[in-house]
Amino acid sequence: MFFTPIKYDEPVFRPPGEARSAILQVTLGCSWNKCAFCEMYTSKNFKARSFDEIKKEIKTLSGIYKGVKKIFLADGNAFVLTRNKLKPVLEEINSQFGRLQRISSYALPKDVLSKSDEELKELRNSGLKLLYIGIETGDNELLELINKGETFDSTVEGIQKAQEAGIDTSIMILNGLGGRKYSEQHALKSAKIINKINPKLLSTLTLSMPYGMDHFQNRFKGDYIQQTIVELFKELKLFIENINGQNIIYRSDHVSNNLVLKGVLSKDKEQLVSMLNNAISNTSPDDYPSAPMFL
Ligand code: SF4
Repeated sequence: MFFTPIKYDEPVFRPPGEARSAILQVTLGCSWNKCAFCEMYTSKNFKARSFDEIKKEIKTLSGIYKGVKKIFLADGNAFVLTRNKLKPVLEEINSQFGRLQRISSYALPKDVLSKSDEELKELRNSGLKLLYIGIETGDNELLELINKGETFDSTVEGIQKAQEAGIDTSIMILNGLGGRKYSEQHALKSAKIINKINPKLLSTLTLSMPYGMDHFQNRFKGDYIQQTIVELFKELKLFIENINGQNIIYRSDHVSNNLVLKGVLSKDKEQLVSMLNNAISNTSPDDYPSAPMFL
């Protein structure tokens, strides 16, 4: 039987970029847990773990992951914790692991806005150098329909505040989020928000429906009409074409994506658009994304 000394509270998620990181659950679940498309943590009640528990786990992890360079703080939005709760965790990590490249976590814009500039800088100086923020879209109407609890302005404000404190951001946009009806406004407003915040890292994932379309339609407050794969590609193309930010490292390599795209926007935009044009020409206009759809 496989034995692991860490007893994770499943399910555990981490961004693809944290595949080689040690994962430390400092919170369980997501403090918001209300986004219409997201089932990641609906099986859990949000909880902050005690410092004593975390401290023991850091010691165990440091014994297993010798030489690891990155630590990811799970679950959904560990950054919701106050500076007073996060700082001792970061200090304990630094003392047990020694030199690390970075510590990161998922966050919501409101989690950043709840901290002062000074607190953010302190956390940055304690090693928390990257926040993964699933903004999903820049379109206010769609943000409302998916119950994201954020707006275009709150998102920009939160992300800029983190960046001004020296914390890098990795932003996620959800291709197909609003279906056919909201596709164009989703692509254009998402490009607009990316231009405004110019994140270091950007990725696009594709809307997944692990519990089926009826379940999603019941949670989505608008008129959702599923898009074909070609329509999803066209939406992505419109989004990328309208981005004029500089040096944004872009990835579309999540398991939910129909096409792997990688490049630096501003340098590789033409190539990415050309890959999408090829994919559009070579895909049947009647094909829909196939099940299973991913959590
Ligand atoms: S998308 Fe993020 S904020 Fe929304 S419920 Fe899921 S984990 Fe929470």
